[in-house]
Amino acid sequence: PREVQLTSRPVGWPTADDFALVESEVPPLADGQLLVRNVVMSVDPYMRGRMSAAKSYAEPYALGEAMHGGAVGEVLESRAEGIAPGDHVLHGLGWREVAVVDASQARVVDTSVAPASAYLGVLGMTGLTAYAGLTRIASFKPGDIVFVSGAAGAVGSVVGQIAKALGAGRVIGSAGSQEKVDYLVGELGFDAAFNYKDGAVRDLLAQAAPEGIDVYFDNVGGEHLEAAIGALRLGGRIAVCGAISGYNNTEAPPGPRNLVRLIQTRGLIQGFLVGDHYDLAGEYAQKAAGWLADGTLTSRETFADGIDHAVDAFLGVLRGENTGKMIVRL
Ligand code: NDP
Repeated sequence: PREVQLTSRPVGWPTADDFALVESEVPPLADGQLLVRNVVMSVDPYMRGRMSAAKSYAEPYALGEAMHGGAVGEVLESRAEGIAPGDHVLHGLGWREVAVVDASQARVVDTSVAPASAYLGVLGMTGLTAYAGLTRIASFKPGDIVFVSGAAGAVGSVVGQIAKALGAGRVIGSAGSQEKVDYLVGELGFDAAFNYKDGAVRDLLAQAAPEGIDVYFDNVGGEHLEAAIGALRLGGRIAVCGAISGYNNTEAPPGPRNLVRLIQTRGLIQGFLVGDHYDLAGEYAQKAAGWLADGTLTSRETFADGIDHAVDAFLGVLRGENTGKMIVRL
């Protein structure tokens, strides 16, 4: 089997030369472990941070070792009670075709209820990020006018649909192509959307939300964040989820120049990490299952096939080549 290793720490945009696809050794199973053949793996924007040496909330990837991340695989062999060959498990040893996983770090998922990929996206980490950020961090209330950036992506597309389902006054999204804008309005039920490449975000947002916004769910940072602060209404809330517009910058972007507007609006701005909100996972899973069943929530995925395309898929996420969750099928 093969695995993807990080071979050098990218400065600015990563390239294929920063990674190597190598043959891996599969160690013998110890008690409590599973031999897993990965079926799908996740490539996520946060992984860009782990490629740098700078200490963050997640440990940097080691050079010359397999990277890791969310994956779902089929159990080939089990030395753990309660998990049998043929079961599918969600675990953290992606970026490889075959993994030896501690059963304590794996969760059995039911692939007859939803496809394996859903547990990496709408029913998994990115779905929960959307739900926790919107309901807990941004304290969403029915009637709120909600703006979300990265709106056609894995997290953003769920944010907008959940906001509608929970009774938002209006939902506005931004994304990087006309095709994505059409998807948001035509298929996901957003009230308005714009392509942020069409002009100044401040102007595009003012057109899409002339009455201002109550909630901004930030996936992008930079110019978007400043525009949202400028559009915030009295008592508005901003959940800072990500800042992908700057992940490949070699210098920090300038801060929002209009932060002082938060005084006038009594605005709140709060960052969050999904890892702190797994207490909401059960509640979210139940609601999401209902919304998926009745069509309130739909999820599109963009697939790449084969571990030899995993790096391309990761770079594709940074470039916006995905609509919905980017998934690598192995
Ligand atoms: P997405 O599926 O949204 O993929 C990333 C998207 O970002 C791309 O499709 C692209 O779409 C967009 N993008 C890339 N560059 C830019 C740019 N310069 N300006 C604006 N948009 C850009 O990824 P996820 O849903 O997995 O993640 C979304 C955000 O949420 C990320 O910032 C991520 O780091 C963050 N996150 C945070 C978590 C937390 O716990 N705080 C947990 C999970 C994710 P487009 O074509 O529209 O440009």
